[in-house]
Amino acid sequence: MNILSKFEYLLNLFYPKICMSCSQALNSQEETICIKCLLRLPKTGFHFHEDNPISRVFWGRIDIAAATSFLFFSKQGRVQSLMHNLKYRGQKEVGIYLGKLFGNDLKESPLFQNIDLIIPIPLHPKKLATRGFNQSMMIAKGLSESMELPINEYLQRSIHTSTQTKKSRYDRWKNVKDIFEISESDSLKNKNILLVDDVLTTGATLEAGAGKLLEVEGTKVYIATLAYANI
Ligand SMILES: [Zn+2]
Repeated sequence: MNILSKFEYLLNLFYPKICMSCSQALNSQEETICIKCLLRLPKTGFHFHEDNPISRVFWGRIDIAAATSFLFFSKQGRVQSLMHNLKYRGQKEVGIYLGKLFGNDLKESPLFQNIDLIIPIPLHPKKLATRGFNQSMMIAKGLSESMELPINEYLQRSIHTSTQTKKSRYDRWKNVKDIFEISESDSLKNKNILLVDDVLTTGATLEAGAGKLLEVEGTKVYIATLAYANI
């Protein structure tokens, strides 16, 4: 045993690593999520079907090449504790780990081939300051590792977004779309982009981000979120 693994051994003795889903202690072979939870992850398998509930969210709204979510989100379920640990308890490795699993699945999907790069939905600067990291970036990191694709941060939050109140529906939509801006549009020309977010609810933020990316000549946008909250 070298010094580092001795240290890890001792650390684990006093602070055992726990499963980010069920909070049981992990054994030495397990990483982030215990095998029991891993086998019971509520995977959607949506990326193997062109017509799925996620792609339907965007139908008639925006032209997306393909869309999917990795897991079903349900209150008090396994995925809720995972997301809670990721977003509110600073457990970045949950995002990276699940992102890796997700990426392995996407590599098998005929709908998610020919992607050039990954872009995470940027977090509002205020939230980024309080949370310290962007959870979508952690998911993107995992995806990047297993799919062997680069991450790009050219999609950014606009500095100025006026208030949403007292606006018509059209103005509100325009306003939502303008929450994003692109810093280097030349580098995105003709690229197939995988746009990543943590949870899909109404799809408004993803629609806005995708809309902005599609303004760049020749781009195609694919959407992947870690979880899907059926509301
Ligand atoms: Zn577990």
